[in-house]
Amino acid sequence: MAIQLFVPNFRVDECLEEIRECLVKGWTGLGFKTNQFEEAWKAYTGLSHAHYLSSNTVGLHLALELFKTKFGWADGDEVITTPLTFVSSNHAILYSRLTPVFADVDDSLCLNPESVASRITEKTRAIVFVGVGGNVGQYHEVLKLCRDRGIKMVLDAAHMSGTRFEGRHVGHDADATVFSFQAVKNLPTADSGMICFQDEEDDVRVRKMSWLGINKDTYARTASQGAYKWMYDVEEVGYKYHGNSIMAAIGLVQLKYLDNDNSYRRQLANWYEELLSGHDNIRLVSITKGCESSRHLFQIRVKNRDELMLALNEHEVYPGVHYRDNTEYRMYASGKGQCPNAHKASTEILSLPMHMGISRRDVELVTSLVRQYAAE
Ligand SMILES: *Cc1c(COP(=O)(O)O)cnc(C)c1O
Repeated sequence: MAIQLFVPNFRVDECLEEIRECLVKGWTGLGFKTNQFEEAWKAYTGLSHAHYLSSNTVGLHLALELFKTKFGWADGDEVITTPLTFVSSNHAILYSRLTPVFADVDDSLCLNPESVASRITEKTRAIVFVGVGGNVGQYHEVLKLCRDRGIKMVLDAAHMSGTRFEGRHVGHDADATVFSFQAVKNLPTADSGMICFQDEEDDVRVRKMSWLGINKDTYARTASQGAYKWMYDVEEVGYKYHGNSIMAAIGLVQLKYLDNDNSYRRQLANWYEELLSGHDNIRLVSITKGCESSRHLFQIRVKNRDELMLALNEHEVYPGVHYRDNTEYRMYASGKGQCPNAHKASTEILSLPMHMGISRRDVELVTSLVRQYAAE
């Protein structure tokens, strides 16, 4: 049977039971389960604020837009980012009419603090740091650069549900942290995400921004009196970005199993490492000391990546690539040639199958093929 890169695992009966509650109650939109999921997420991560959204992509946009308007950043001000990410991280910068400035990555495939430092100018307002595969990389060194210079840190934690560093869930020290619960992430719903701000004030504002700018406090006040439900105010031109109760129902169930699932992912990673280490043609992308990674990905580097990919496909093994150097895309061609490590990595990296349906035998099969076809 074919071995796929990602296959989401849903506890079907439990998910249906939670969804059923929404349907019976007649409440499928914002509120009810979205509130429950926000509370459950805060309890699980220890983060002080959490707002449930329709995706991580919209969360990254909201974070930048909120800071831009709050601090009066100008159109064209700079945000340092990575070329080795899903395009969402960089599109969010363009949505807010800010300029993406690409810095290079280190061996963890996350931003390299030295490269980031070299890109800082008077116009640098924020850094988008991506925890690739669930790893923190040198996040703390990059955060220090931000703190020393009053630059905002936006952590794209799309791969980091359940990642802990020195025992604590990631996200508490970024200005904004954005998680993804998209269908193939390690806490899968169908599409949704969570935005977690450090400041209460930002959490309050993002709730308005994600619901068209409608002042819900007014809404809640008048609604509780029965009449005048329509008497809310619209304080700004917001967006329709909030999450809904059907997705949150699935998220609530998935969250219960997140730690178990992630520990199985770490088991798979250990097996991959055991069976692939010590081979000259195969480099393993390693995890930062002190980081308990969600292990959204297990990545290796080989010289003949495209050939190896085809050979594996012939054997019905379907790995992935995270990611193609974004400066190769027409939209980001301005950054071309500026990040040699990211560029080289993007030609060598391969993400091996990583999901709850992978067994030790599958890992043995995949690794024996990788060892056989990885060339000098
Ligand atoms: C998946 C992903 C996103 C986008 O998440 P959505 O919830 O699908 O919008 C952003 N950044 C990274 C690194 C991702 O992997």
